[in-house]
Amino acid sequence: MNRVSLIAGNWKMYKTVPEAVATAAQLKEAVKDISGREIVIAPPFISLHPVSQVIKGSNINLCSQDVFWEEEGAFTGQISPGMLLSAGCTYTLIGHSERRQYFGETNETVNKKTKKSIDQGLKVIVCIGEALEEREAGKTFSVLEIQISEGLKGLTPVHMDSVVIAYEPVWAIGTGKTATAAQAEQAHQFIRGKLKEQFDTGVAEKIRILYGGSVKPDNIDQLMAEKNIDGVLVGGASLKVDSFSRIVKFT
Ligand code: PEP
Repeated sequence: MNRVSLIAGNWKMYKTVPEAVATAAQLKEAVKDISGREIVIAPPFISLHPVSQVIKGSNINLCSQDVFWEEEGAFTGQISPGMLLSAGCTYTLIGHSERRQYFGETNETVNKKTKKSIDQGLKVIVCIGEALEEREAGKTFSVLEIQISEGLKGLTPVHMDSVVIAYEPVWAIGTGKTATAAQAEQAHQFIRGKLKEQFDTGVAEKIRILYGGSVKPDNIDQLMAEKNIDGVLVGGASLKVDSFSRIVKFT
């Protein structure tokens, strides 16, 4: 199965609005000749609309870092899928480990956000991954299994056309410790196998599974050489145009 590679940059809580606009403009220029792979950036909420104006008509897609599961209402501080679409997003991240760790995200809220976002017309990048203690206790696969079964519960194969999974071992995020390409490939194979059980072979073969965790220009080529790694979700190295564009241009 030929899956289009996807390279996503999560800017986390970095960059003011003018900085985000300037970075997006530089990135647009740096990657303008790239085709045949999907490029996604996730700036902070406040910069989504201004950045959308900069990248309009380019090969860069816009993504939010979170979303809420209601369409509108008295939910102070929350942003709905429809609002994100109106700001120019085509994607949202859901269930990033920092949301799980600091903001009470659970598999149940991941599930609600995923369903609502897809029903409203967004594509989703659902993040899963084990913590260091879980890996050391030999629980990596059982944690991934629960995150998949609960996070994607009740979705149909049609919903799954709008889902990308990001496998991000928590111990590798922002720590400089990358899973080896072999460790990542093993987890990706497991995830694809679980998706086959929960849905069907078609879903499992079509879905893109990204790796995330200290991806840098010097490890991207090795990671992308693995059969089940269909792209990457990049934090720190996505903040600078030279490192992110090198990652986008993996060989
Ligand atoms: C992330 O934010 O999803 C991430 C993987 O961060 P980093 O690349 O900095 O480890």
